[in-house]
Amino acid sequence: MTMLREQFRSAFVEDAPLAPLTTFKVGGPAKGLLTVRDTGELQKALAILERFNVPYLLMGRGANLIVPDEGFKGLVIRLKEKFEMIRPIKKTRGTLYLHVGAGVSLPSLLAYTTRHGLSGLEPLVAIPGTVGGALIMNAGIPGFSISEALSSITSLKPPRTLIKRYRHQLHPSYRDMGLPAGEIVLHATFKLKPSTEREVRKRVHHFLEKRRNQTWRKYPTAGSVFKNPEGASAGRLIESCGLKGYRIGDAQISPAHANIIVNRGKATAKDILDLITHVQKEVAKKTGIYLEPEVIIARN
Ligand SMILES: Cc1cc2nc3c(=O)[nH]c(=O)nc-3n(C[C@H](O)[C@H](O)[C@H](O)COP(=O)(O)OP(=O)(O)OC[C@H]3O[C@@H](n4cnc5c(N)ncnc54)[C@H](O)[C@@H]3O)c2cc1C
Repeated sequence: MTMLREQFRSAFVEDAPLAPLTTFKVGGPAKGLLTVRDTGELQKALAILERFNVPYLLMGRGANLIVPDEGFKGLVIRLKEKFEMIRPIKKTRGTLYLHVGAGVSLPSLLAYTTRHGLSGLEPLVAIPGTVGGALIMNAGIPGFSISEALSSITSLKPPRTLIKRYRHQLHPSYRDMGLPAGEIVLHATFKLKPSTEREVRKRVHHFLEKRRNQTWRKYPTAGSVFKNPEGASAGRLIESCGLKGYRIGDAQISPAHANIIVNRGKATAKDILDLITHVQKEVAKKTGIYLEPEVIIARN
């Protein structure tokens, strides 16, 4: 960590609290937290990490992440500045290609595409997170995922190799873009349809309406906890086991939606992880189905 401190000065923070950087608001500190401004800085940091064998974790808005109470014993990296750029790059008949950095927040991207009357990403409205996190997770809603609007992704294979993959070279599946483990998303190009601000706003509103009754959003949460098993709904399975409202400490299965865990105030990461294990055990016992977590646990 000494070398990172020397090289990156104020962009590097030692023993950085992570709970405020996640939407669940739980978890201990990271040994180090580094904010990089461009690909060159990222490559420089990764070369240091490789040399000293330090583990690292990419973090967007922490909207799908559980950090353990003991924290993360390596370096957490966040992508800012050049990674927060949105730029139209090419317009062909009926298509506009938009270059978007991995550090751009999804709400900012949606605000941009709405303002410029660009259609294609509207179903992602109200999903928190960054473009990098959303791409890794292949974020979406039933019937649509971010991969559908993709033209290409550029990633970094640590410490220095840049790889550009076009949509047909990717193998996205439900909540997984299928990128090799350890690759870092730098930026992506989306293929959008020029429309009008009014039309795009109407479509955004349509998808927002579907989320109107998500009362669980008033608590710290990471959205859906489990992936839906093939042909079934994780929420319905959990509900059928009588677990709606079930609580361990301040972690609770939302009484409004059984696939959501909310932090009712002072939950610890352990409360949430114990609740996840409890749900998995109960659902497996009663239905024979193993629920696979959708949330990512920042393992040390
Ligand atoms: C209220 C709420 C509602 C939600 N609704 C939905 C929904 O409808 N649909 C849905 O799909 N999700 C939903 N989510 C989950 C979450 O918003 C998405 O998974 C989002 O894409 C996470 O993005 P992030 O930047 O916060 O990623 P993080 O949580 O920070 O990270 C998630 C994973 O991505 C990795 N990662 C992040 N950035 C990069 C990068 N640049 N390169 C490589 N790896 C990276 C992290 O290491 C981690 O493994 C919801 C969450 C909340 C809190």
